[in-house]
Order: sequence, then structure tokens, then C-alpha cells
Amino acid sequence: MKITDVKAIYPNYKNVVPSWRTHFWQIVVRVETDQGIVGLGYGGGGVASVEVVNKHFRELLLGKEINDTEDIKKTWDMLYSASLPYGRKGIAVMALSGVDLALWDLLGKAENSPVYALIGTRNKDSVRSYATGTDVEWYSELGFTAHKFPHRWTSEKDVDTAVSTASHARDILGQEALLMIDTYMSWSFETTLEMSESLKNFNIYWFEDVVNPDALDAQSQLRELVAPILIAGGEHEFTEYGYQEIARTSALGLWQPDITWCGGITSGIRIVEMGHSLGIPVAPHRGGEVWGLHLIVSSDCDNLAEVLPGTKDGNRDEIWVGEPVAADGYIAPTEDPGFGVKVNEKLL
Ligand SMILES: [Mg+2]
Repeated sequence: MKITDVKAIYPNYKNVVPSWRTHFWQIVVRVETDQGIVGLGYGGGGVASVEVVNKHFRELLLGKEINDTEDIKKTWDMLYSASLPYGRKGIAVMALSGVDLALWDLLGKAENSPVYALIGTRNKDSVRSYATGTDVEWYSELGFTAHKFPHRWTSEKDVDTAVSTASHARDILGQEALLMIDTYMSWSFETTLEMSESLKNFNIYWFEDVVNPDALDAQSQLRELVAPILIAGGEHEFTEYGYQEIARTSALGLWQPDITWCGGITSGIRIVEMGHSLGIPVAPHRGGEVWGLHLIVSSDCDNLAEVLPGTKDGNRDEIWVGEPVAADGYIAPTEDPGFGVKVNEKLL
């Protein structure tokens, strides 16, 4: 089938707090074809990324044939090359991710197949999910047995906050639960060492994004110093080329590519293959959303999917209709064609 139109849209989100992270600046990409089939994708990069898709990628995509996964990979390589002078990472690749996911959705719908079946043989029925957020009581009620809480370093007292939050989470979830901490680049080399000592009684599975993601050598050293706690990260890295540097420096003990940012399913497959060949577990950032979940169930990804349930009484925009929901701590994609979701037109 031939691409006849491409459009990126920044949704009209309602529940926005003053932070770009509320919706991770996510965009919707729609690809239309001469067969009447429409593919939908989810990318990052906000309004700047919308411009990249609509003012650059669109003209390169018009008239292109998409009939198999090789066509998608060739298209990925073409867009990556075309955006290389201003791209390689960041907004251009976040835009490319949205296009790539729309093409996988398109092909799935054309072949009446879920995307996971286009990727490979499904090897996980359902995926253990972990709840990221602050409402551990609610996550426990929902049946989660794995949880990640945020911790931002602001002062000396924050050691106590980390210890009390970890202690509370252990009390609620029990000794067998997986417990992780995301510091969103707010710790330092020394803080990470101090935390590994202060938190040693809580059996923390990983520390995530402890320092600037470009500090690869520092993270590599930390891996040995804080073991068996894993140094995790990668949501701010892009494509297999970026992950080659993480691999070369042995910077991370668990990789977390965001499939809507790192280059889509096409990059995700390449990154997971690289991680697998090195014995590094890969657990995509926000892997409980369909974009990551389809990759997880049909690849060598870890059996672990991140979900962000928010808080019990919180409002949220449901941009995708038909997203699977975790039940008793497990989540599975539907068997519907493509990614199996429709966009909520009211937010466009
Ligand atoms: Mg994170």
C-alpha cells in the first residue's frame, strides 16, 4: 500500500500541570494510505516534533510503499539519514518514533495481525507489571507486587526520605515484592554510594537514572560499587547507535529504552537484540503501554512492564482508547490488529 498522507498532532491535553513531563510531550502521528487503512503512532518531542513530521518527514513519506516489515526498516533508515544533520538524538528521533509506530500499526491492520505477531513469536502470555508512582497503598490494592517510587535529591535530609519511603513500601508490599527507585538524574556519584549503604536493608532491585545520562563512565563504575543493586537507565538514549555507547562503556545493568522516543519498534528490536547478546536485561520505559508491550511479549525483553497508574483519585487524559489495563499485577496486549488502540478524537 502507498502512503498518501502523514500528519502529526499535538493533542489538546486537559490535565496539564506546569511540567512537560505530564504527558511526556507526546504527539500522535497518523499515516493514511491508498488502501484506506490508517496507521496511528505515538511519539515524543511536543510541538517541535510535530513540525519535524509535518514539515520534513511528510514529503519524504508520500508515495512510499509499505508492504512488509523490511519496508518499515528501510523507511526508518531513510528518515534517520534525512534528519541526521539536525537529528541523531532528541526531538528528531522522537518524531521518527511516532512515524515508525504508525507504520507498524498500519502493517498490522493491513495484515489483520497484532504488531507483536509481526515482530516475532510471542513468548510471554502476560507480563509482570510494576507500578511507578507515589500511591503504594493503592498499587497494593490493585494487586501489584512490583513498585518503583520517585526520589529527588534536594538536601541532606533526603536520605531519610528515601529510607522512610522504601521502608513504607516494604511494609505495604512485603519482602517478596520488587522495589525500585527512580531519581530522575538528581543524585550524584557520591549520593548513589551513600544511598546504597543507607538502603541496604530494603533489597532495592535497581536505582534508575542516578546521574546525567552522558556520564557513562561514572555509571559503569557505580555498577560494581552498588551491586547487587542494578544501575538502570536509557529512557534518555536514542537508537541502537546511542545504545552502542552504553554497551561499549558497560554503563548500565538494565536498559530502559522508551519505544515512543528511542526510534520506535524498529529501534527497539535492534536495542533488545544488542542487550540480549550482551546478557543485559531490557525493560522498556513505560513498557505497559501498547507501544512497548507488543515488543516485550515477542522479544527477549525482560518479563517486566512499567505502568503509571497515578493516584487513586487523580484525573488523567485517556488519549488512547482500548489500552490494556494491568490486573493482579500482570498486563497483556489484546489480539486486535495493529497496536489495538484507537485515538480519543476529543483530545485532538
Ligand atoms: Mg525513569
